[in-house]
Amino acid sequence: MAKLRLAGIIRESIVDGPGIRMTVFVQGCPHHCKGCHNQQTWDFDGGYDSTSEKILEEAKKDKLIKGLTFSGGEPFEQAASLAILAKEAKKEGLNIFCYTGYTYEYLVEHFDKRPEWKELLELCDWLVDGKFILEEKSLMLHFRGSKNQRIIDVQKSLKENKVVLSDLN
Ligand code: SF4
Repeated sequence: MAKLRLAGIIRESIVDGPGIRMTVFVQGCPHHCKGCHNQQTWDFDGGYDSTSEKILEEAKKDKLIKGLTFSGGEPFEQAASLAILAKEAKKEGLNIFCYTGYTYEYLVEHFDKRPEWKELLELCDWLVDGKFILEEKSLMLHFRGSKNQRIIDVQKSLKENKVVLSDLN
């Protein structure tokens, strides 16, 4: 079991990755993107306490849910706890879609200083990376807010040692 600081949960979402998903919004974000729609998630002291166990129990109750989405806030600021949740979720056959304001390359470059980033990334199926850039905002994009953001096939990217885009783009 791992503690998590959350901003909220959406039980059945169809806009945060493929299929019906449970979206977990973590609390706390260091990026402060201009035009962010979730500014209430910035404060690391805001939100409420939860646990990986509670979240997974909630997800298991709904058989329509195909995966978990980690959004925020910045999921990689709670990477160790989300890795524990992701590992348990995968045992239940759920896939993992994760948002981050960091780029994929930045995460990989910092694996030595932040080993929990490696741990979480290795459990993700998809990663939407990069800050939200207001000037690049588009309503035509699937699952992302601005054109700089990429939907990355994480498992292929780790294997090939370079960013491989998902066909969800
Ligand atoms: S990374 Fe996401 S939650 Fe954080 S400021 Fe940017 S848009 Fe908002």
